[in-house]
Amino acid sequence: MSALEVLSVVSEVYPLVKTGGLADVAGALPGALAQEGVTVRTLVPGYPAVKAALEKPKVVTKIGDLFGGPAKVLAGRAAGLDLFVIDAAHLYDRPGNPYHDGDGVDWPDNPFRFAALAKVAAQIGIEGAAGFRPQVVHTHDWQTGLTAAYLEYDGRKRPGTVATIHNLAFQGQYPKDLLPALHLPDHAWGVDGVEYYDTIGFLKAGLRMSDRVTTVSPTYAAEIRSGEGGMGLSGLLSGRAGVVSGILNGIDIDVWNPAIDPLIAAHFDAASPSSRRPNKTALQRRMGLRIDSKAMVFGVVSRLSWQKGLDMVLEGIETILASGGQLALLGSGDRDLVDGFRRAAAAHPGRVACVIGYDESLAHLVQAGADVLMVPSRFEPCGLTQLCALRYGAIPLVTRVGGLADTIIDANEMALDAGTGTGVVFTPPHVDMFRAAVQRAAALHEDQSIWRRLMKNAMRTDVSWARSASRYAALYRDLVAERGG
Ligand code: ADP
Repeated sequence: MSALEVLSVVSEVYPLVKTGGLADVAGALPGALAQEGVTVRTLVPGYPAVKAALEKPKVVTKIGDLFGGPAKVLAGRAAGLDLFVIDAAHLYDRPGNPYHDGDGVDWPDNPFRFAALAKVAAQIGIEGAAGFRPQVVHTHDWQTGLTAAYLEYDGRKRPGTVATIHNLAFQGQYPKDLLPALHLPDHAWGVDGVEYYDTIGFLKAGLRMSDRVTTVSPTYAAEIRSGEGGMGLSGLLSGRAGVVSGILNGIDIDVWNPAIDPLIAAHFDAASPSSRRPNKTALQRRMGLRIDSKAMVFGVVSRLSWQKGLDMVLEGIETILASGGQLALLGSGDRDLVDGFRRAAAAHPGRVACVIGYDESLAHLVQAGADVLMVPSRFEPCGLTQLCALRYGAIPLVTRVGGLADTIIDANEMALDAGTGTGVVFTPPHVDMFRAAVQRAAALHEDQSIWRRLMKNAMRTDVSWARSASRYAALYRDLVAERGG
């Protein structure tokens, strides 16, 4: 099989810049695709952290005016990835979060910051750069949605395009009078172009104009074709059902490997789950929970938002405590949830603990030390934390939506008999059902032989990228063949 070259275009990439699962995927997929004979280069904005990490950068292109200032495209390696980086101080040289300022207010020039990413992607797609000529340009989420539009309107021969939806809730909509400033032609304004409910829709453009659309689980691929799950795009996605598919995410099993993880207190694997115990003590100590090996620790590592359903955890906290459990929560996000969990921790010292913030190392310890990892999302395109939980033997307690439904097998009696259960799955996402799920988890935990079996099943689940990387490779090859090689 001949090598295939793909340009991945993304607004964050682990470990250089990360606000969520998107970065994890962008960071891990290139390595997995290399095993499939696919060479990936990743184009990212030159945020300060990216530029600082770039080894031996070379200037491959100079752009006189990229939406208000000069820019260079640099090529180099960082963190094991082959990168193209857009060095444009006026767009990306600012501290903190890639999307907003320290108060959570979106950078006002975001339409230009991400149009620039798409514009450079299209230029590399058509002209190549540093000897690299991608046959496929693979874009991720709304920030890169205009890529397909710039490629299409350029008029020259273009590579195939794939748009992946990591979260349909973020769509990137901007006023229509920006059309000329974004270098989009007048005829882009229409249902087959960028027009979306009388605004310019970045994600919409990508989903309308890319050759293939994927999302990160088969169930989410089905959900987004329905009215509610489609968040305004169900009609478009149903109309394009023939080119929409779901490919599950994996996790980087070298970063998430409990047998060697430097961020946890004791190493273990599926053959030695009892070696996991010191992590629970370490977690209880680190979070200020009462040190008690018998107390069941319910963990959370999450953005605190409506999507993630953590209001159910707050409302159902008494059920966790009534079953003798403890809550260990790591998260950041919405003010009312932050306040709620802080109040709960103050009301139940030693039994409820929360760390508000982003902490990579504590995230690993929660996965290694908690008995249960809760992801009660209202919708979840794929979800990565439940995959980490499987690998670390924290039994996932999840809603039956999106990728959670596709990755966790409910430990009902039949599944236990068949030796396949890996978690506790509930539906619908309502606090009463959440409470019942907590009680079910506690009942399962009481029988330690059943619990050990669950942990082994969970830890033996293949959560690597191998299966899904071969699906992406097949999709790319199919697309290249369709477009005449
Ligand atoms: P989403 O991308 O919707 O936030 P995912 O489950 O797909 O959710 O990915 C979340 C990623 O971010 C996981 O790698 C998870 O471990 C990490 N994460 C989320 N919140 C925190 C936090 N407060 N501290 C450290 N890591 C976090």
